[in-house]
Amino acid sequence: MLSMSYFRPAIDAMTGYIPGEQPKPGTKIIKLNTNENPYPPSPKAMEVLRSLDSEWLRRYPDPFAKEFCQAVSDALGVPADWVIVGNGSDEILNVLIRSCAEGSDACGGLRQRKVVYPMPTYVLYRTLAAMQPASVVEVPYGNFQLPIEDLVAANGAITFIASPNSPSGHSVPLDDLRELAQRVSGIVAIDEAYADFAEYTALPLVQEFENVIVLRTMSKGYSLAGLRMGFGIANPKLLAGLFKVKDSYNIDAIAIAVGTAAMRDQAYKNACADKVKISRAKLTVDLKNLGWRVLDSQGNFVLATSPEGNAESLYLALKERGILVRYFKQPGLEDKLRITVGTNEQNQTLIEALVSLMNKNT
Ligand SMILES: *Cc1c(COP(=O)(O)O)cnc(C)c1O
Repeated sequence: MLSMSYFRPAIDAMTGYIPGEQPKPGTKIIKLNTNENPYPPSPKAMEVLRSLDSEWLRRYPDPFAKEFCQAVSDALGVPADWVIVGNGSDEILNVLIRSCAEGSDACGGLRQRKVVYPMPTYVLYRTLAAMQPASVVEVPYGNFQLPIEDLVAANGAITFIASPNSPSGHSVPLDDLRELAQRVSGIVAIDEAYADFAEYTALPLVQEFENVIVLRTMSKGYSLAGLRMGFGIANPKLLAGLFKVKDSYNIDAIAIAVGTAAMRDQAYKNACADKVKISRAKLTVDLKNLGWRVLDSQGNFVLATSPEGNAESLYLALKERGILVRYFKQPGLEDKLRITVGTNEQNQTLIEALVSLMNKNT
């Protein structure tokens, strides 16, 4: 009998996404590897969580999380019906690819519906495209200037731009994003997972261009990575296609209630983000004083290049000391660590560990 794989060829061929390690809560480690916020969620959100009534769980949740959309509308000044809510912004990325992209096998030439993004960036774009499967064009970032000509030439059905970008931390200038949106016929998805720590947002482009969607998350700025909640803002014409594809009840009732309270507590979120930004500046200076090259970051993390080029061995040695940072074994990133900005105390412990590890090597 011919043996047949259980899976589609695309699934057999792909590598699964490898998330940053998640040790059990309570484990005594300093976790600077997945860009979580070092501060707890809004006390008002925690109060809502404690007061939830069983009736909330007995019934199905609102398929469109309208209560949360209204909170986004009030906080960000966009109409509530311009908001789509996802089980993490990762789900919205997934829905975008499922709605817009397909592979070269399904249709050739000009009818290819490609996924396009500059590199290096969030690795999940590649994973989701491989699952679809969709043709992918990865355009290298030269010195972190947006490669507009090559991105336009690639003619994506969807073009992903993370801004601030991970792992580099740089923000893409609005004029570049505007030019890209003008020149491509497909969707431009601006992934603003780190907007809460950045100096500006691309949100105004959503009003200017029907093909732009801006993605946000509750995971980073709002300290709610465990809740799994993200959202996209776009013209309702664009959202209509995505609503057909998303699961009907993609946001659970607890997330809607807790996320809404957190969204309504902008003052708390901004105060935490301000603390992170101050710590980010200090961490950057401290690393530079140790000889690291550090890119100016608009996120809650920094990308730092080791003066001795031994990022992987430092990553492992830090892990042994209970400090987790992110190391990407990828071309161009081998000599770098992505370090989440923690509390000042956590950052200080990291710096002290680096001092003693680096001395050992010389
Ligand atoms: C963290 C992150 C996300 C994922 O956010 P979730 O809402 O937790 O799914 C998306 N994009 C980028 C660039 C991120 O860094």
